[in-house]
Amino acid sequence: MADRERAGLAIRIRGQVQGVGFRPFVWRLAQAQGVTGEVINDADGVLIRVVGATQAFLDALRTDAPPLARIDAVETTPHMFDVPPRGFRIAPSGTEEGARTPVTPDVATCDDCLAEIRDPSARRHGYPFANCTQCGPRLSILDRLPYDRARTSMAAFEMCEACRAEYEDPGDRRFHAQPIACPACGPHAWIEADGERIDADPLDESARRLVAGEILAIKGIGGFHLACDATDAEAIARLRARKRRPRKPLALMAPLHVLCRHADPTPEELARLQSPAAPILLLRKAGVSLPDALAPGQPTLGWMLPYTPLHHLLFDRLDRPLVMTSGNLSGEPQAISNEEAREKLSAFADAFLLHDRPIRRRLDDSVERITPQGPMILRRGRGRVPETLDLPPGFDEAPETLALGGDLKSAICLTKMERALLSHHLGDLEDALSFAEMRKAITDYRHLFEHRPALVAADLHDGYRATRLARALAEELGAPLVRVQHHHAHLAACLAEHRWPRDGGRVVGLVLDGLGLGPDGTIWGGEVLIGDYADYARLAWLKPAPLIGGDAANRQPWRNLLARLDDAGLRELAEQRLSGKPLATLRRAAELGVNAPLSSSAGRLFDAFAAWLDLAPEEQSFEGEAAMALEALAMEADEPGFAWRLAREGGAIDPSPLFDPDALTKMEKPALAYAFHATLARAFAKEARTLVEAGTAAAVVLSGGCFQNALLLDLTLRELEGLPVLHHRAIPPNDGGLALGQATVAMARSLR
Ligand code: ZN
Ligand code: ZN
Ligand code: FE
Repeated sequence: MADRERAGLAIRIRGQVQGVGFRPFVWRLAQAQGVTGEVINDADGVLIRVVGATQAFLDALRTDAPPLARIDAVETTPHMFDVPPRGFRIAPSGTEEGARTPVTPDVATCDDCLAEIRDPSARRHGYPFANCTQCGPRLSILDRLPYDRARTSMAAFEMCEACRAEYEDPGDRRFHAQPIACPACGPHAWIEADGERIDADPLDESARRLVAGEILAIKGIGGFHLACDATDAEAIARLRARKRRPRKPLALMAPLHVLCRHADPTPEELARLQSPAAPILLLRKAGVSLPDALAPGQPTLGWMLPYTPLHHLLFDRLDRPLVMTSGNLSGEPQAISNEEAREKLSAFADAFLLHDRPIRRRLDDSVERITPQGPMILRRGRGRVPETLDLPPGFDEAPETLALGGDLKSAICLTKMERALLSHHLGDLEDALSFAEMRKAITDYRHLFEHRPALVAADLHDGYRATRLARALAEELGAPLVRVQHHHAHLAACLAEHRWPRDGGRVVGLVLDGLGLGPDGTIWGGEVLIGDYADYARLAWLKPAPLIGGDAANRQPWRNLLARLDDAGLRELAEQRLSGKPLATLRRAAELGVNAPLSSSAGRLFDAFAAWLDLAPEEQSFEGEAAMALEALAMEADEPGFAWRLAREGGAIDPSPLFDPDALTKMEKPALAYAFHATLARAFAKEARTLVEAGTAAAVVLSGGCFQNALLLDLTLRELEGLPVLHHRAIPPNDGGLALGQATVAMARSLR
């Protein structure tokens, strides 16, 4: 037998190549090019063994790969077959399948499935659960790995003959589509009201009720939404009252042609909206205005496109946008099972659009924005997890690590085999149900990824529930607990996102944030740090002011105004501005340090300045409300604006000049709001520039919750022009990214 009939290539493909239709794609390619051999899924990705592969075949593996595939590497080695292969086959998978290859996130309905459900002659015409290898539920239905139907919540649905034929046909786009379903064999939707199933087409009936002003609980991919007509101010008011969510912006959903009546997305925004992750994207209001109550005072609205067939079919019956806010009481985790929804949401919803495909994981919609500097992820959820991040160079020997993050916008992080997995958004742990949810998530993710932590990381703050849980876990596992300063973790998260090498040298971190405990016992949050993954030093900071009343100072911006005005020597002005407040008592508390911890928080300075401009509510109804109003107002100012010069005494940068009574009477408020941003940007950037130009730091890192503010980010970057700067694009700059930073700090310390 001639060797050349047996001599071929083994082609190893690494990356996100399982569960995305990669093997059928290779099969079709091999058919078309007359290549013989086989393709197999294994623990390292996809392995192809072939005879007759040309360069065109190898090129096409990359250029023509299915849209959901992400190819990290294609490696070829010679391969000698025992017998010359006849034809091309998809070989059965190795036993370890899936253990190491990433599971894909849930994917928005693809164009082919959409066309099919609208095609009156198709088997799945009007079917709300159509999906294929290019779209549909993934992580949200997964029980355990490896990812196949028997280990998902689709196991209970036995495939009909027609579906099985598609599932087994390598030429079909549903070849090995694990959630494959049709009206004959798959899940069904129905509508209920007052505990009774209604005998009507569930989509027609839902549309009718929404148009009539009702609030519906709609079961989706990662949980329930509460929906109402977004053009109906009265319905919105009812929804807000029932949900006890007075002002926090509500997310909207609409098909593109409806969305474009109320917003004018740029090409980049459009691409993001239409991407497989289908996130909520913040878009500037434009065109026909919608009720202000959707996002009071905000220049943007959070929009997403329909991302399941059920959504599409519902919008085919509606010519208007819907509010689609998570199905929960404010602060609590959203409902996922039908029973839970009936029990918890009946006080909110007039009717329930339900289905019988169980949801295995509570995944909130991701929230993102496109800034002039590129995309920014504010909340990681459905469509984004469980995407992993390759750890930077230098971490290959690191132990498996579990980091628990903070108590607000909490998320956990697991690292293993040079990858980091940052979990979905778990909510605020102050809520007992969210805390229970976090404990569940730890078990769930550890189980899913066969994670055995040898190292546990947590914040310095002993009072965080996440820290207490980390201590208990570390004890239980017999693993060391590494405590990481909050803003050092923010800095490290940004380094890790950019794959900054472990030995890449020290950087200067401008961390403008809410609150985080410092090792000196004060509360930090406006920091200039220098350091790397393992260590840091604090070089400068916003001059501390007392958080008068402790937690109350986080909710009531005027308390921060009082602290800053008193510090600036404007006591009389404070008395005029804040007459009616118990100033004597508050000042005594501040002087004695009674429930008035000192803080260098930049977030609280935003609050103080918003109150200075009369923009802040007496009591914030959600975190960042006042700061968002300040950013929105500043966006109305003419550029270039003016900036105050802030003095530095020792390490403390004094913001007192911002509170300039003269300017307040002479300048327009938008100009003042803009000047506030410009002043902070200039003062902090100046510190960073000095260090980089002196060769003390190799780059500048921008992190912390304040950098969700696109204007602050933009102005800071302008001040840093010409310097290497790292800022967040894929990991939230807020505490949602904290766990990633904690994990890398803990690993780096264990490695030195
Ligand atoms: Zn599809
Ligand atoms: Zn079927
Ligand atoms: Fe933070």
